[in-house]
Amino acid sequence: MNVSILIIEDEEQLAHAIKELLKRQKLQADTVYDGRTGLEYAMQGNYDLIILDIMLPEMDGLTVLRELRYHHKNTPVLLLSAKSEIPDKIKGLDIGADDYVTKPFDAGELIARVKALCRRTELYQGEILSKDKLQLNKNTYELSYGNQSITLGAKEFQIMEYLMQNQGKIIPKNHIQDKIWGYDCDSEYNNVEVYISFLRKKLLAIHTNVQIKSVRGVGYKLEVDNDGSD
Ligand code: CA
Repeated sequence: MNVSILIIEDEEQLAHAIKELLKRQKLQADTVYDGRTGLEYAMQGNYDLIILDIMLPEMDGLTVLRELRYHHKNTPVLLLSAKSEIPDKIKGLDIGADDYVTKPFDAGELIARVKALCRRTELYQGEILSKDKLQLNKNTYELSYGNQSITLGAKEFQIMEYLMQNQGKIIPKNHIQDKIWGYDCDSEYNNVEVYISFLRKKLLAIHTNVQIKSVRGVGYKLEVDNDGSD
């Protein structure tokens, strides 16, 4: 794994111990010792993972995390917390941390969590879903067919991703509704219809033979139209 990790931890000895642990796994890491510097590094650097202590000078870890997510910096964050900081830990997960370990932690446990989070990033980057020759890039939201491509909006992407992940199945309209807009949203079904019609226009625009078929009274299904003019 060719990854780089940022460690934000004010106990310098611990920060260096973590860095050494990672190094033995061939994972490169930078260390910083206060929240404000940590935030600067995290915003400017291109890290694959941030190991973030909660109690930090200058700016606490949860504020760092909140600032990152507020600025759409979605680098995975592994929180380090003391036993006494359980409510903070929960708050941390709520504001966008990906996982946490409680100090004092076992080296093996830390490495396992780090690797799991890095793998998740690797899997995510550049992942492409396909149906016949139609491809959806999960990184760029680009839908392409042959040499033609078009970029999808966020909701269009989510619906297309869902349809492509469930190929061969009829997807009930209310499942799309729940998946994309959540259960506690009172938007009407025709939201789904509107976005499906946007997607159909985009599919037409790139001249693909893949279509979103309506199954009357049930939902939608991706189909390859072999009778079409390709
Ligand atoms: Ca600390």
